[in-house]
Amino acid sequence: MVPEQSLKNSESTSSKMSTITGKTNLVGLLGQPVNHSLSPIMHNAAYEVMGLDWCYIAMPCESKNLEKVTKALRYLDCKGLNITIPHKQEVLKACNKLTEIANNIQAVNTLIPEKNNQWIGANTDLEGFLTPLKNHDFKGKNVVVMGCGGSARAVVMALNSLDIKKVTIIGRNKNSLDIFVKNMSNLSKKNISIEGVNNKELNVSPYIEEADLIINTTPIGMNSRSNKQENIPLGNEIWECLSNKTILYDLIYTPRPTNWLKLGQKNNCFTIDGLDMLVEQGAFSIKLWSGFNDVPIEIMKSCAEKHLML
Ligand code: NAP
Repeated sequence: MVPEQSLKNSESTSSKMSTITGKTNLVGLLGQPVNHSLSPIMHNAAYEVMGLDWCYIAMPCESKNLEKVTKALRYLDCKGLNITIPHKQEVLKACNKLTEIANNIQAVNTLIPEKNNQWIGANTDLEGFLTPLKNHDFKGKNVVVMGCGGSARAVVMALNSLDIKKVTIIGRNKNSLDIFVKNMSNLSKKNISIEGVNNKELNVSPYIEEADLIINTTPIGMNSRSNKQENIPLGNEIWECLSNKTILYDLIYTPRPTNWLKLGQKNNCFTIDGLDMLVEQGAFSIKLWSGFNDVPIEIMKSCAEKHLML
């Protein structure tokens, strides 16, 4: 269980947040690289509105230093950390406790300070992923997930709460796909069928055709402005069979929209990009660190959007 912390005291709040003082608390992000991260922009905007005297910094960290760095930051009374690529699994070693979700998927994106200079590992990617889907009904539907890496684990666990019928995971690497499907089948509800399909061996068109929701968890299309075929997951041709009833959800948020989502929009599909997930997972982290439920999500999103347009 994650402890609710009350930070409504004079050391943690102040009416003048934009100035860093001797009382300002540190929060931040560890990853490699982190210089592209939108998290400092959206977190610091939220803290200002919330009256939290916190400062969020993106800190590049190599895997070999992760344990030492997380320990040192805890000793420095850091109020919370986000963890991003490539450390979401590696950071488990630095956690003294895990929330149930983080333990199930063996991935952590949020460290919550615990007494005795310890860290609790949590994962807010699940809630972040689900928020943009909350007005849709997926009961009895078919879902395709492209990719079987770290974020796909959170996505498949999250899909468990949507009462869907079948999840098909499309992966390029047979070994990692088999391990992923085995792990996720063990963790998933018994009434959901989870199947792995290696796109190097099998034609995946029938799965695309029948899908109600398709999710891209691969980095294909990220930071790409060109329209080349390699910037679309599974290549251009496969999407000729796409139905306009299928919802496309890309975890990527740069560029907005990705080439794959543009293709979906041309086919009149409903599309979702990764920005809402990013904002929501950040907002859930703030809730865990601060104990406050009222996080200014719209402000976080508009600050992130403005920054993306620069
Ligand atoms: P990851 O753990 O490295 O997993 C990536 C997956 O994509 C792996 O299955 C990998 O296969 C596959 N893949 C990589 N390149 C590929 C290619 N060229 N062709 C086919 N498959 C390929 O990464 P991750 O942490 O899951 O992140 C994936 C993406 O999601 C990133 O773009 C990240 O920015 C985004 N993301 C967004 C949010 C958000 O809040 N919006 C949150 C988390 C992640 P192999 O195992 O064979 O390499």
